[in-house]
Amino acid sequence: MKVCEVISVGTELLMGQIADTDAQAIGRLLPELGIAHYHRQTVGDNLDRLVGALQLALSRSDVVITIGGLGPTEDDLTREAIAAALGVSLETDEQFAQVLRRMFATRNLPWVDSQFRQAQRPAGAKFLDNPNGSAPGLWCRRGSQVIVAMPGPPGEFMPMLSGPVRERLIREFGGAETLHSRILRVCGLGESVVEDRLRDLLSSTNPTIAPYAKPGEVHLRLTARGDASLLDPLVAEVRRRLGDSVFGEGDETLELVVLALTRERGWKLGVAESLTGGLVGARLTSVPGASDTFAGGIIAYTPSQKSSLLGIPVELLRAEGLVSSASAEAMAHGCREKLGVEMAIATTGNAGPTADVDGKPVGLTYVSVSTPHGTHVEEFKFRGTRDGNRTRAAQAALTLAYRVLRG
Ligand code: ATP
Ligand code: MG
Repeated sequence: MKVCEVISVGTELLMGQIADTDAQAIGRLLPELGIAHYHRQTVGDNLDRLVGALQLALSRSDVVITIGGLGPTEDDLTREAIAAALGVSLETDEQFAQVLRRMFATRNLPWVDSQFRQAQRPAGAKFLDNPNGSAPGLWCRRGSQVIVAMPGPPGEFMPMLSGPVRERLIREFGGAETLHSRILRVCGLGESVVEDRLRDLLSSTNPTIAPYAKPGEVHLRLTARGDASLLDPLVAEVRRRLGDSVFGEGDETLELVVLALTRERGWKLGVAESLTGGLVGARLTSVPGASDTFAGGIIAYTPSQKSSLLGIPVELLRAEGLVSSASAEAMAHGCREKLGVEMAIATTGNAGPTADVDGKPVGLTYVSVSTPHGTHVEEFKFRGTRDGNRTRAAQAALTLAYRVLRG
């Protein structure tokens, strides 16, 4: 199996000012191509250190992919560093230099001679077309090895990776033993319960199953070596053991599935949010096409707003407290009436960090879902930060909605 190593170039990466999403995308792609990935380096905008990183990578990997440092400015050093690491000169491609000049002229962009740096390449290297920016990528061969240089901005990097670079990597370095993965998404069951139900399957070697705990969800990554159809019986078995707790696969989010199930019933959906302050609505509206099913939401924070916007009797709020199962149910019910929707999701709770005026402890949360068939409520005692508790509350609310819709 061929081995690939990624070098991310940029001081801003080391300083934590940006996250290395480009390297993450390569990490996702390589298993699918049957290329091994043992090392990743991050190096600042410094010529000597970059040359050192390239030499180290060339000493142990077949393919070295660099990210960033291809622009026109003085701190863009990747071209120089590759030439130095390969022991070749840096040449200017006169034809491409003219292309660059024309590109700037037609777009009315100010020309600075440093732009010519982008027309340079280590001797023998090929340019990779960059339709989304001015700096081309580079494909630099040394014997059986190759250094691939790609621009850093994700809008330029991603199309280059998933297009020409992916194709060339498959052709020259792709393995027969490609890895095929599917993700099953589980809600409403803790990680240890999931593990317990799948215990004997977890030791299987091809395909393998790996559980990942996410806030309020467990994702199961099923991976087969060689043949993707090996996954089908395992997916079926996992679904049989976990039932409806498997709510989706791949990119299917909980909000997407909740909307789809609501739509199937011909219902409209609304939300009434207190401690989540719009998080549930934000997740639902992030789904393309939500507008045919999601009607809207009410963020009712104070008792008087809960009463005036959702029509909850002040006496009920006073007797039961804002954070109570009765309030949550009344919010869901009131939301259905005020918005004229069949289904409503409501949240109320104390996100923290201090106890409520009426003494309700931090983390105590109620979520409720109301439909024409009845109103459901669930209590939680979360133990996290304010942000964590609010996120969990939104997740718990969508999970209850999913379970209600599944009947
Ligand atoms: P430019 O021509 O814009 O200078 P470049 O190829 O020289 O591109 P860099 O100068 O290293 O790339 O980075 C430019 C921008 O691209 C960064 O400010 C950042 O927004 C983004 N970027 C760089 N590297 C990465 C990375 N590894 N992951 C995600 N984004 C990145
Ligand atoms: Mg740059």
